[in-house]
Amino acid sequence: MNSATTKIAFFSTQPYDKTFFEKYNTEFGFDLEFFETQLNLRTVNLIQNATIVCVFVNDVVNSEVIELLADRGIKIIALRCAGFNNVDLEAAKKFGIQVCRVPAYSPEAVAEHAMAMVLTLNRKIHKAYNRVREQNFALNGLLGFDLYGKTFGIIGTGNIGKAFSKIVKGFGCKILAFDIVKDPEMEADGVEFVDLQTLFKESNVISLHCPLNEHTYHIINKDSLSQMKDNVMIINTSRGALIDTADIIEALKNGKVGYLGIDVYEQEEKLFFRDLSENIIQDDAIQRLMSFPNVLVTAHQAFFTNEALTQIAEVTLGNIQELLMGKKLKNTLAQMA
Ligand code: NAD
Repeated sequence: MNSATTKIAFFSTQPYDKTFFEKYNTEFGFDLEFFETQLNLRTVNLIQNATIVCVFVNDVVNSEVIELLADRGIKIIALRCAGFNNVDLEAAKKFGIQVCRVPAYSPEAVAEHAMAMVLTLNRKIHKAYNRVREQNFALNGLLGFDLYGKTFGIIGTGNIGKAFSKIVKGFGCKILAFDIVKDPEMEADGVEFVDLQTLFKESNVISLHCPLNEHTYHIINKDSLSQMKDNVMIINTSRGALIDTADIIEALKNGKVGYLGIDVYEQEEKLFFRDLSENIIQDDAIQRLMSFPNVLVTAHQAFFTNEALTQIAEVTLGNIQELLMGKKLKNTLAQMA
């Protein structure tokens, strides 16, 4: 197999995916085919003569889909994202399909978006923007608080959590962190690693940067919320199912949560990355969330910077080329069985 004859079928593609991948493919010469649709059981049969699929966060890559991919001759599943909770790695191994991802593309892009959410919610920039456009220059209702001196709790101190902690440090805040592995460099930098209970109890702002897995599913739930300070701010730029949606709505209604910034949402596959402005949204939970004045929702855009898209395209195509050359990659998640 060489690059010139190797076809990659891209799913869930947007115009910007095409722009960046076509630009960087000039160095690789793969045959690229772009589908707007999500990869799932019904769309697998769109694949014709491709040996590689390139997927994103909401593509369905469960064992049933993987079996069909194997039937169609797929050898590599290339994730153009960091998270891989949507891929059944065991099934990939079983069917001899290699899986690679882009573990760290501009972690600063996501970390900066998380801070943008903190500042927007705190200083009510979303309200101020609309207000002055209506020639309402009053300040009532826009009262914020100083971040300086407040306590941030960071859950997950990998690439993004670490980048976020550096930003937070610049604001003069105390930083508590929880991770299954402590980071000595961060500790030397003044970050205090604590247990989850302490982090929940003492933080004014809690930001989620851990992956979604069986240990972190609904890590923010009725029980953890009850341990937090009243009026806590919660930011989630990681994965929607880290938060129990029903429990957070309840906590917003009773004032336990004072601010919520989410770039990801439990049921986002049916909503995000498309223009639904002419549709009737059937998801009552997202409608309820968007109705709160102290909730900010962005549609999985934290990664969306020029630098990140450049790295995603370069690393994804580089991963594929190295796998085709038989190299063992550090970005590989499942090797041939
Ligand atoms: P990473 O792998 O570098 O770091 C993840 C960290 O979480 C690691 O330090 C790991 O030890 C820790 N962790 C694992 N299990 C944990 C647990 N049970 N409790 C606490 N910590 C735990 O990943 P990253 O690049 O920093 O990305 C973090 C997450 O951000 C990804 O999993 C992905 O879901 C999400 N993400 C979102 C966007 C976006 O656009 N919104 C973009 C990229 C990544």
